[in-house]
Amino acid sequence: MEIERIFEIVEEENIRFIRLQFTDINGSLKNVEIPVNDLKRAFEKGIMFDGSSIEGFVRINESDMYLRPDPSTFAILPWTLEGQKSARLICDIYRPNGEPFEGDPRYRLKLVMEEASGLGFVPHAGPEVEFFLLPKKNGKVSYEFLDEGGYFDLLPVDIAEHLRSEVAVMIEEMGIDVEATHHEVAPSQHEVDFRYADALNSADAVQTVKLVIKTLAIKNNLHATFMPKPFFGVNGSGMHVHLSLLSKDGSSNGFYDEKTGDISENMRYFVGGVLKHARAITAVTNPTVNSYKRLVPGYEAPVNVAWSLGNRSALIRVPMARGMGTRLEYRAPDPSCNPYLAFAVLVAAGLDGVKNKIQPPEPVEKNIYSMNEEEREGLGITTLPKTLEEALIEAEKDPLIKEVLGDHIYEKFMELKWKEWKSYSIYVTEWERKKYENV
Ligand code: GLU
Ligand code: MG
Ligand code: MG
Repeated sequence: MEIERIFEIVEEENIRFIRLQFTDINGSLKNVEIPVNDLKRAFEKGIMFDGSSIEGFVRINESDMYLRPDPSTFAILPWTLEGQKSARLICDIYRPNGEPFEGDPRYRLKLVMEEASGLGFVPHAGPEVEFFLLPKKNGKVSYEFLDEGGYFDLLPVDIAEHLRSEVAVMIEEMGIDVEATHHEVAPSQHEVDFRYADALNSADAVQTVKLVIKTLAIKNNLHATFMPKPFFGVNGSGMHVHLSLLSKDGSSNGFYDEKTGDISENMRYFVGGVLKHARAITAVTNPTVNSYKRLVPGYEAPVNVAWSLGNRSALIRVPMARGMGTRLEYRAPDPSCNPYLAFAVLVAAGLDGVKNKIQPPEPVEKNIYSMNEEEREGLGITTLPKTLEEALIEAEKDPLIKEVLGDHIYEKFMELKWKEWKSYSIYVTEWERKKYENV
């Protein structure tokens, strides 16, 4: 949006405050509110903030950072605070010397988009965001189901139906095209899908959608959790990502071969690259201890590193659509990831395949879960990491991760995640007490 138009809207809508948003390494959305009078300065020079207070950003002695709003992200927040409307702008982070901050997750994704652009492509992503709605008791989140609903259920089973439609209306108002919202397989579980967009816009949209869902949940005295596996024995929440490489003018899809009417060579290479790096990128697409409780057999989440043209037990599925809709669905990510970093490593892995013509193994159409180990080995099928620890070790072995995250984020990310793993690994759980109290 033109900056002038933003000022007109601000005036017309009587907006007094603007929220400047950005995302930290962990994927948490942060914001600072500025009065409209400072907006001009924000566009011209940026707004200074203390980078040392943000997880994984900078040390105290270099703490001055600048937020520069991206005008294309202007949106009025669909809720009011004390009757007052405000708007938000998503920001890029700069150092005082005017250079982009290498530790800004949005910047890392932009660099990968530039690389794709050099090859003639604009990567597009379409995520499916799953989450649970939980009740609150005495102000605390209660791990109980709100409903006994299942896949595509509607009222009266689904008491959150109303909230879900409100989410859809609000995200539309914020400029995101909703594709579908529905009750998911597990009780109390829901999904919001929005139309694919270029990967940067799509990562911004994930952050917006999560904020809207969380806000509406609070307004309804509920809690929305994007934790990958909140309940033992019940499907977890994933964030499948549909990926394609469109031409720069958006008129054709690099994953589609018009001559054969089927998937292109480049798409095969892209798949080859993603499969090659799959074990390492899991540290970024599934970055929490809890992520690995979801990636187990039997709950519609992937375990095996393989691709398939239909079969949902594989990590990568290629849906039937051809032409502009030709795409792959990468089924590992979960909504605890930082979407900027997750899309960045995914696209970079695929581009590595395209640049180096990495041939993928044959697609697997048989149910992989019903194969024995020998059969899987024969087909070259490995498994995703089983713990955060295993994923971090894989990420350390694959130079692509450091390249994409950049030294700054890579160091901080590893430091944070190893700490998280260590703190979990010495924790004594209820499961252990029950299991071992009589030994
Ligand atoms: N909830 C499942 C998961 O953990 C996905 C279900 C689906 O196919 O949408 O990935
Ligand atoms: Mg789903
Ligand atoms: Mg899906």
